Amino acid sequence: MSTPRLTILDDPDIRKALEQAWHDSQPGIVGGHEEGGFILRDATGTLSVVRWQTGAQDTIIVPPHPNCKIGGNDILATFHTHPNTADEYLQEPSETDRRAMRDDPDLKGRFYEGEFVISQETIYLIAPNGQVSEAGRTREILGDG
Ligand SMILES: [Zn+2]
Repeated sequence: MSTPRLTILDDPDIRKALEQAWHDSQPGIVGGHEEGGFILRDATGTLSVVRWQTGAQDTIIVPPHPNCKIGGNDILATFHTHPNTADEYLQEPSETDRRAMRDDPDLKGRFYEGEFVISQETIYLIAPNGQVSEAGRTREILGDG
């Protein structure tokens, strides 16, 4: 696994937003649900997060995002949580996650880096071609919260 550039995850506001999403998804052995969102960049270069509607236990619906943009702003990345830590749940990105990424023509923008999958131990990055790498340790990126 290669180490991707972590410019997006270096942004303190983005870290905070991801940490919030992780907490909102109520991680644990029971009762977790997926949270996710878009990481956008506006014309001034400012990054922001637009959250998706709360998902089910192990799935979430991604709102339409034609041409890899939301409200005229470029989508730099997407993310979703894997909050269920029980043995029967995969912590790493699933085959469905990878296929959804690979087959989404609207997540192929010039500036789009991929989808972060936040699990208890590790934050993974699914590249637009469906390849998975590790972006880092969850605790180091999000803090102890
Ligand atoms: Zn997933």
